[in-house]
Amino acid sequence: MGTIADYTGGFILESIRKALHYFDSTEGPLTQDEKGKRLHKNINEFEPLILSLNQAGEYIRKAKSIAIGERVCRVLHPESVYTESVFLNELAMEMVASGHARIASIEEAEECLQKSAGHPLIISKVSGEYLEICPSYPPDCVYWRAEKRGLHCLERNKQAQ
Ligand code: SF4
Repeated sequence: MGTIADYTGGFILESIRKALHYFDSTEGPLTQDEKGKRLHKNINEFEPLILSLNQAGEYIRKAKSIAIGERVCRVLHPESVYTESVFLNELAMEMVASGHARIASIEEAEECLQKSAGHPLIISKVSGEYLEICPSYPPDCVYWRAEKRGLHCLERNKQAQ
C-alpha cells in the first residue's frame, strides 16, 4: 500500500517510474507474467476509482485539509500536458510541508479539477484513505497503462453521479 511518506519521500515516483519502464520494455498482455502479477497486486492496493466531477467535489467538501499540486507523475514527463492534483487531509498537509503542494480552499480545488476537463478523475487510497484526486493523463498514467495490458485496476465509483 502507498503511504503518505512514500509520496513526500519520492518512493511513489520511483515505483511509477519502474512500472512505466516495465510497460515500455514488454509487449502484450501481462496477466500470466510473474512480474506483471506483482505489479497488478501493488497497483490494486491503491484501490483507484474513476470519479465524476460531482463525486470529486463530495470528497473535497468533506476534507479537513485541502492542497493542490502538480500531478505526481508529471516530473517523469515534463513535456506532457500540465494538470494539478488535489490532495486531502493529512496527505495535503504533508505535501505542503514537503514543498509539493499549496493549501487550497474548497472552491480553488473544485476549480482546479474543472479546468482539467477531459482528464479522467481518479481517486487513490494513500495510507488506507482516499486522499489523492488526479486529473489523469492516460498515455503516462500507470493505471491506464496497466488496464491496456490486461491488468484491470480501475473501477467506477458506484455512488450517485
Ligand atoms: S496520471 Fe495516473 S500515475 Fe500519474 S499521478 Fe495521476 S493517477 Fe498517478
